[in-house]
Amino acid sequence: AHLDRIAAVDPAVHAFLHICGRRALATARDVDARRAAGEELHPLAGVPIAVKDIIVTKGVPTTAGSRILEGWVPPYDATLVSKIKAARLPILGKTNMDEFAMGSSTEHSAFGPTHNPWDLDRIPGGSGGGSAAAVASYQAPLAIGTDTGGSIRQPGAVTGTVGVKPTYGSVSRYGLIALASSLDQAGPVTRTVLDSALLHELIGGHDPHDSTSIPEPLPPLVAAARQGALGDLTGVRVGVVTELNGDGYSDGVRARFSESLTLLQQAGAEIVEVSCPHFTYALGAYYLILPAEASSNLAKFDGMRFGLRVTPDGGDGLAATAERVMSATRGAGFGPEVKRRIILGTYALSAGYYDAYYGSAQKVRTLIQRDFAAAFEKADVLVSPTAPTTAFKLGEKLDDPLAMYLNDVATIPANLAGVPGMSVPNGLSDDGLPVGFQILAPAKADDRLYRVGAALE
Ligand code: GLN
Repeated sequence: AHLDRIAAVDPAVHAFLHICGRRALATARDVDARRAAGEELHPLAGVPIAVKDIIVTKGVPTTAGSRILEGWVPPYDATLVSKIKAARLPILGKTNMDEFAMGSSTEHSAFGPTHNPWDLDRIPGGSGGGSAAAVASYQAPLAIGTDTGGSIRQPGAVTGTVGVKPTYGSVSRYGLIALASSLDQAGPVTRTVLDSALLHELIGGHDPHDSTSIPEPLPPLVAAARQGALGDLTGVRVGVVTELNGDGYSDGVRARFSESLTLLQQAGAEIVEVSCPHFTYALGAYYLILPAEASSNLAKFDGMRFGLRVTPDGGDGLAATAERVMSATRGAGFGPEVKRRIILGTYALSAGYYDAYYGSAQKVRTLIQRDFAAAFEKADVLVSPTAPTTAFKLGEKLDDPLAMYLNDVATIPANLAGVPGMSVPNGLSDDGLPVGFQILAPAKADDRLYRVGAALE
């Protein structure tokens, strides 16, 4: 049924870069046979899933939205993919994304944009617009995204889906093509909070293949979601972050946000105001730290090891040295946003500028972590709108990188501090488009997201 749905709507939505129809059907039939034989299976066995194309899948093309990886077929599975396969969820295919997860609209994909199913002239958010659009348009009931600065939560907000960025280190990064290794985290994209909890428990947990993986089990997420669904939040302190609500957020977004605060209060939660003064500098720090890490991570795409190789035609009589192949391959294979960030990153890391830029950004990062620590003394969870506006029109911000970056103001602090965050659907704005409500919790307390999120559903 999902493959039929994909065939019917994906030509207009373009959520998928690659569809694994035969393999998905084979897994589904195998699950049927095992069930018929009375075998005990994982609760999500047989439930189809879509996977963002930045996650490596053995034998299935993986491009990260970039021409430079076109034609590359990974020889191994990411840990989270191995877990999905072991639980026998049919993988429907790989979803579209901004190139190397750089963007907030999926327009930076080298393979054309994804369209928001609510209005095909609008963006589905980014970088994980494909995963969010696939779930929102009923092409997949579950999807996997990655969130380095909001790429799960902001697409969730603008497509009316649930998106979760787990605590840094709680879902293995083994097999994720790295954007910024100290910020990247994979997580669920679903239509309900309980679905996210089920998927999060499946993909999370310690992995010796990832040196930053937390060597502890996850807190009980499904139980927290079930508890929250009962609608009683007595004793839960909800902190409204002053700096993430106000100027720059549209009227419709603010109206839905304050209505949800009333709902939380009616459920017994105590609403408190908290200030995180350094969050104002989060965007600036992020756009130094991310390009710095990305410029280093992307150095491996050299035309020798993966995907595309462009050999200069030699018309100038010069030999095709390794350096010239590398330069031609990177020139042709990377899109403009990727090149912009490599240039920013190498500049910020260069001798003489390192302390002024990268060093300062790291200090800001520490101050943001301290803001979170102080805020979580006063509140059990922090809340804000997920994104400042509803989905904008395709093309509207494409020529203005700064306007594009500003979509991430509310989501970035969580990545800089490693804390978990969730976006839950928060009704529709006056323009008829979905709005997201963001919940943040202390590191390793992801269960709190599920309790509060499920109470809002
Ligand atoms: N919009 C952010 C960026 O462009 C989000 C990145 C992400 O989370 N992958 O960097």
